[in-house]
Amino acid sequence: MAPLRCPTCGHFFEINYTPAMPFCSERCRQIDLGQWLDEEHTLPVDIEKHLEEQANRPFDDEDS
Ligand SMILES: [Zn+2]
Repeated sequence: MAPLRCPTCGHFFEINYTPAMPFCSERCRQIDLGQWLDEEHTLPVDIEKHLEEQANRPFDDEDS
């Protein structure tokens, strides 16, 4: 299959190698989610901090 382009980091990747479609990695997926869910934290530095905070929390139910 042709590689896809990650909408977060812009790298091309093989879709068979990621569990985080349509992103190249779980990290890029979470960055994208963070941008949508927390519009006050759109700067890259803030996103990194936000992800660190999320990593220390148990997963929330996204359907709730
Ligand atoms: Zn990516």
